Amino acid sequence: MAITGENFIAGQRRSSGTTFRARSADSGEEFGEAFAAATSQDVIDACKAAAEAQDDFASRPLSERAAFLRLAADKIDALGDTLTQRAMKETGLPEARLNGERGRTVGQLRLFADEVENGGWQKLRIDHANADRTPPKPDLRLRMIPLGPVAVFGASNFPLAFSVAGGDTASAFAAGCCVVVKGHPAHPGTSELVAQALTEAVAESGLPAGTFSLLNGTENSLGEALVKDPRIAAVGFTGSRGGGLALMKHAAEREVPIPVFAEMSSINPVTLMPAKLNDAAEDLAKAYVGSLSMGAGQFCTNPGIVLAIKGEALDRFLAAAKEELKTVGGQTMLTTGIHKAYSEGASRLAKRTGAELLGMGEEAPGTCGQAQVYTVSADAFLADKDFEEEVFGPASIVIRCDDLAQVKQVLSGLEGQLTTTLHMTEADHAEAASLMPVLEKLAGRIIANSWPTGVDVTHAMVHGGPFPATSDGRSTSVGTLAIDRFLRPVSYQDMPAKLLPSALREGTPGCLVRIDGEYRA
Ligand code: NAP
Repeated sequence: MAITGENFIAGQRRSSGTTFRARSADSGEEFGEAFAAATSQDVIDACKAAAEAQDDFASRPLSERAAFLRLAADKIDALGDTLTQRAMKETGLPEARLNGERGRTVGQLRLFADEVENGGWQKLRIDHANADRTPPKPDLRLRMIPLGPVAVFGASNFPLAFSVAGGDTASAFAAGCCVVVKGHPAHPGTSELVAQALTEAVAESGLPAGTFSLLNGTENSLGEALVKDPRIAAVGFTGSRGGGLALMKHAAEREVPIPVFAEMSSINPVTLMPAKLNDAAEDLAKAYVGSLSMGAGQFCTNPGIVLAIKGEALDRFLAAAKEELKTVGGQTMLTTGIHKAYSEGASRLAKRTGAELLGMGEEAPGTCGQAQVYTVSADAFLADKDFEEEVFGPASIVIRCDDLAQVKQVLSGLEGQLTTTLHMTEADHAEAASLMPVLEKLAGRIIANSWPTGVDVTHAMVHGGPFPATSDGRSTSVGTLAIDRFLRPVSYQDMPAKLLPSALREGTPGCLVRIDGEYRA
């Protein structure tokens, strides 16, 4: 499939305006086709087409919506090696990782297809009328409906699973929302290939062309115009805290403000409980270095801080981590900008009062990120809030605490996180139980005895958490619950049956319904 560098606006390829080129992650050099930067007219046309398609798309039978998601998955699978090779060049990510990510991407499209058909997300409720009650009780029936067209911002660190057909797009489609994607400029060719697959799936499913559009560009003004377009009803975003906050501001300043579901920054605190640390210091150290350096540390769930109580066991852990670090080679980072931000962030961290370098990975040439671990006393950490700054890449800090009370003090003072982890044995359970209320307030996911890098796309997954991990801690961007972000409830009071949506008429809708307070299958 040829890459033409055009935007996709409601099924039509279009190029006008200025152009930009993809850059090789390895060298930072431009290569290949010129990509057209979307113009303000392109934004208007894509949003207008999405708004025009919205009612049609939303009213299609759920089986059609599900079939569309499955067809999109098949078409992305069919892109095969062309997609992998292009993504490798643009992102520097290795082949195995990208093939795995493609599996996750098509897997989540198929999971959302099943979810659409399951229908539980509609949260159907029927409260029958009671004329004998004083005052008389009306007949009330509730279901969730789509918010409307969603603007999705592709993420640089997941060029497939959180980009054009990633989790935000899949969950928005599943909710019945049309989607306008703002492609990430770090992987425009990858985005175009996936957009082509989605465009074909829309057409072959007989859906209105405005169901999906892709806009490319490198200027903040494009994202701003998209969020401010009055036809856009919600935003999905994964990226920097600065970017997320800017989009939230634009959304709040609109004449009609809209929700922004932004996944931004997290340092994912990991606590090594005393008995576990004593039993397995060396194994923990090896796994820690593996987790912090995986994918050049470019995961939102990277273990940015580790807490442990001072003593002989922690010394063994640190010594082993230092040795393990020496075996970590430099890995190409996603973009020269991200590499620069990493180098600057790590050098700010190194200069903070109390930070001591524990060890480094192998020297990392060019745009590779060099793994590094620092230690700091809990007192010094508590004295400088900037220690909490996310350094996006393979850097991490081990916090030396005096006792469990200090561990709790550090955890209680942290900003909201995507994940927090406890490594423990049974002998630690009583003390771990005392930390649970702190951890529940802190993060969206609490992990026992593994490392946070790795997110399963399932029904019970939460990839969210209090600000600044996300802009709205009531939601998740991974897993089937992500669909909730793009829905709102509507209640129909004393509505004649003919005017009710079919799922709310008497009879069996084929999914879970709450009837007069009782859940019925
Ligand atoms: P980013 O700068 O936040 O950009 C993400 C997307 O948002 C891009 O499409 C960008 O488009 C757009 N954008 C950013 N700021 C904007 C603004 N003020 N107005 C309108 N649109 C805006 O993220 P990135 O390029 O992926 O990486 C930069 C840094 O983000 C990294 O160094 C890292 O610190 C952080 N990051 C964090 C995560 C995480 O999961 N926590 C993931 C990725 C990146 P344009 O630039 O084309 O306008």
